[in-house]
Amino acid sequence: MCESVIMYRLHRFLQIGLSVILAVLAGGARSVVDTSTSPHVKFRNVDMDAVQWTDGFWAQRFELCRDVTIPTLVQVMQKPDNSASFRNLRIAAGVAEGKFSGNNWSDGDCYKLIEAVAAMYCVTRDPQLDGLMDEWIEVIARAQAPDGYISTQIQLTGRQRWQDLHHHELYNMGHLLAAACVHHRATGKDNFLCIARKLGDYLCTVFLPRPKELAHFGFNPSNIMGAAELYRTTGDSRYLKLAQTFVDMRGSVSGGSDQNQAKVPLRKEQEAVGHAVTAAYLWCGAADVYAETGERALLDALSRLWVDVTERKMYITGGTAALHTGEADRRLLRRWPRDSVHEAFGAPYRLPNLTAYNETCANIANAMWNWRMLVLTGEAKYAEVMERVLYNSMLSGVSIEGRDFFYTNPLRRVKDAPLLSNDSATRWPDTTPASPVHCFCCPPNIARTLAQLSGWAYGISDDTVWVHLYGSSVLDGRLADGTTMRLAQKTRYPWEGRVTITVEKSPEIPLALRLRIPGWARGATLQVNGEDPRGDIHPLDYVTLERRWSPGDTVVLDLPMDVELVEAHPLVEETRNHVAVMRGPIVYCLESPDLPRSVTVDEVRLPRRPSWHVRHESTLLGGVTVLETEGSAVPKSASSAALYRPAAEGPVRPAKLRLIPYYAWSNRGPGDMAVWIPLE
Ligand SMILES: [Zn+2]
Repeated sequence: MCESVIMYRLHRFLQIGLSVILAVLAGGARSVVDTSTSPHVKFRNVDMDAVQWTDGFWAQRFELCRDVTIPTLVQVMQKPDNSASFRNLRIAAGVAEGKFSGNNWSDGDCYKLIEAVAAMYCVTRDPQLDGLMDEWIEVIARAQAPDGYISTQIQLTGRQRWQDLHHHELYNMGHLLAAACVHHRATGKDNFLCIARKLGDYLCTVFLPRPKELAHFGFNPSNIMGAAELYRTTGDSRYLKLAQTFVDMRGSVSGGSDQNQAKVPLRKEQEAVGHAVTAAYLWCGAADVYAETGERALLDALSRLWVDVTERKMYITGGTAALHTGEADRRLLRRWPRDSVHEAFGAPYRLPNLTAYNETCANIANAMWNWRMLVLTGEAKYAEVMERVLYNSMLSGVSIEGRDFFYTNPLRRVKDAPLLSNDSATRWPDTTPASPVHCFCCPPNIARTLAQLSGWAYGISDDTVWVHLYGSSVLDGRLADGTTMRLAQKTRYPWEGRVTITVEKSPEIPLALRLRIPGWARGATLQVNGEDPRGDIHPLDYVTLERRWSPGDTVVLDLPMDVELVEAHPLVEETRNHVAVMRGPIVYCLESPDLPRSVTVDEVRLPRRPSWHVRHESTLLGGVTVLETEGSAVPKSASSAALYRPAAEGPVRPAKLRLIPYYAWSNRGPGDMAVWIPLE
């Protein structure tokens, strides 16, 4: 253990001894985002190993992440010609020869993988993972400069530190801080944390004086979350100050850009603009700062931006980046000149399907932000968005086999339409030169999300256990007084809406069980030990069951899972007279392999009141529930190359339609796909 860690542990103990003891008793200090002593949250996140997926949807994904995705990424990220590679760190450590290669953010993506491995280790206790992490950490320790700085794209290229925010130094460092905290919580070891402390101390010397020239530094601010988590791990308040400084500096002097959310200070920002990952990482960091400081202006800004995103700029899949490139929208503040932005939020209601960017990282960042907003407020609307992303635009980023990835996640694909930046016809395994995409940020982001997701499913406050996500699992939740509540959840969600929760262990005091009712679950019913509990159940809210629980008590929640046609706000130009099909949290799509040979995706029309046949196909695409109905196909145009031509005549043909979950598209070769379908 490094000396500074011992000192600060002692310091923290003396400073906030009682609350730390209570937090340790109550659990949550080993969660991915540790809110166990955060004063301004509605519940504590559960420890990473407090929840085990037992079977079903998320257990299947967790096992795939353990058995395929993580081992694949470990191999791919050793390749020197992959755009993110551990080799750069090994060269900086002096244990390998060569030049820096890959993207400026290569280190950060390596740390993201370490974070995934640490979270996986916390659940599986696989000693091989522990050994692997120790090897990497040894290399990182050697690569770190004596003053704490570490970023191999600078160290190995002779470039000066802090010259260009696109060098991504703070992005890399932020991921190091976060990964080190998760590693410490998972293993109890301090080897990575000592590196993080040294880096954190270095960052304090550079940034706490708030040098004007670095006001807008740090593209893609994972550093705010990283500094906040380092504070939570060590109790050293300088790191909280550092996180807050990173938030405060953006937009504090003129010259910042919308692309990086640095034109307007966050507290004054009215609109979601710019790069969709950097925006959501900034908002995640600000939410972490609010959890510790309770500064109302931060929460107000985040709430305002959330409304702008979810009511005007988010896809039905939870994706948030409409633009590959374009101009920042300054609708409300017309006096501002517009900035050129890329990989970014579009203007309000500008949600094109074919050219949607929706980087997998941006979608995940949206879920991470909504998880944090849920923790701050306890409001179900945030869990709803989080779940929307998880089942749709996060999972679409990875193949059913778990080893190929999408960077962009459009909602329509026409085989012959040109691909835009970072689009690819199918998913890819790596970003070596032959690959269609040359950025490897998304794959380790998916891995860490899948490895950590069980920790998002529940929360615990003083006398309440919260259930945010449904999936067969066992929770060993430690309560405020140190006692344990053990719950077993059984469900075939998201394919069926019945959830059975059995109490296996509970202290003999009144406790509340708070279950989330999704917005689409109108008419949900609840039984406790076969009887109706009194009280109303409202969609998009939590229902609270308070009683003295005994082992064997059983709660059965039935969430009606009807197939629903969803339309968009009429200002969304691209979806006029179209509908999307949802069942439960799953967004469906049409894909060419599921249509009759003579029918293309673009010819399909859906009746206004289709009668659906809902069928589970256990061998299709890893096991999916498909939706079948009778639709129609309009006649093909005779002159398909003309921009404008007479509408085709001829009979409308009946067409048997089968829809699959959007996340499962593009697992059967290149083809056409559409989420939004025109009505007959
Ligand atoms: Zn990415």
